[in-house]
Amino acid sequence: MIDDLLATFQDLPRGAWTAIAAVFGLFVGSFLNVVIYRYPLEDQTVNSPKRSACPSCGHQLGWKENVPLFSWLVQRGKCTACGWSIPWRYPLVEASNAALWGLCAWISLGPDGGGAGLLLVRCVVMSALLVTTFVDFDCFEIPDSVSIGGMIVGPIVSFALPALHADSPLALDLSGGEVVTRTGALLNSLAGMAAGFGVLWLIGRVGARAFGKEAMGFGDVKLMGAGGAFVGPGAILAALMLGSVLASVWGAGVMLRFYALVQSRARSRSGRKPAAKAWRVARLAGQYVPFGPFLAAGIGIVLLDWNHVLGLLLRQ
Ligand SMILES: [Zn+2]
Repeated sequence: MIDDLLATFQDLPRGAWTAIAAVFGLFVGSFLNVVIYRYPLEDQTVNSPKRSACPSCGHQLGWKENVPLFSWLVQRGKCTACGWSIPWRYPLVEASNAALWGLCAWISLGPDGGGAGLLLVRCVVMSALLVTTFVDFDCFEIPDSVSIGGMIVGPIVSFALPALHADSPLALDLSGGEVVTRTGALLNSLAGMAAGFGVLWLIGRVGARAFGKEAMGFGDVKLMGAGGAFVGPGAILAALMLGSVLASVWGAGVMLRFYALVQSRARSRSGRKPAAKAWRVARLAGQYVPFGPFLAAGIGIVLLDWNHVLGLLLRQ
C-alpha cells in the first residue's frame, strides 16, 4: 500500500512536483510573513502569540482569514473586522515564496538538477534569503540566524550533499576527478565562505577609508560568507557582481523618484524647480538603500542556476 503510494509519487511528472512545491511554498510563505513582521518586535516571537491577529484592531484571525494569498484576494486586502488595509507585501511574500519553491523544484528535478536533497536545500536557502530581503528593507539589519546560521550550516550541507558543488570547477579540481567528492565540496564551501566574507570585508574597509564613514554593514559581510559556503568562491563573486548591479539600478530609481518628487512639490508651491535641493534630497534617499536584499538576490540567482548565469555573463 505505502509502496504503491510512493511509486505513484515517484512517477509524477516534473510539472506536478513543481505545482506541489509551489503550494507548500505558499503556506511556508505565510509563516515567513510572521517571521518578518515579528522580527523587530520585542514582545513577540515566532511561537508567541500562537494565533495571528490584525495589527490594527487585534481581531484574531480564523482559518478562513489565514489561507495564504487567497484570503487577501477574497477580503480584497482588508481586515474583516475593522477594514484595515492589509499591506500588499503579505501576499507578495507568499506568492514570491511559492514561485521560488516552484522554480527550485523545476530546476532540481530536471536534468542535472541534483534531485530531492538539493531541492530541499535550495528551498530552505531561498526562504532564508526572502526573509533577509524584507527584514533588511524594514530594519537595515540582516538576521544573524540567517548569516551566522548559514556559515555554520553551509559547510555541513556541502559535506552531506557534494552535488551542491557539482558545477564548480574548483570543487572538481579539489576532488581530483570527474565527480565532486565530500572533501572537495567541503573545501569549496570553506573557500567560498572565505571569499564572500573576505572580499566584502575588504571593500568595506577600503570604502570606510575613502569616504570616512562605514560604507558596508557587517551584516552584509556575514551574509556573503554564508552565501559563499553554499555556492563556492567563483559563484559568490558572481553573486556580488549581480547584487551590485541590481543595487545600483534600484538606487538610481529611488534617487530619480525623490528628485522628481521634490521638484514637482516645489513647482506646485512656488512655480520654481530647485535642482540643487532636489539633488541633495535624492542623494540622501540613495544612502538609505540597503545592500542586503540585492546580495540576497545575487546569491539566489547563482544558487539556482550558476551555469546559466555564467553563460549569460559570458554571452554564450
Ligand atoms: Zn482589524
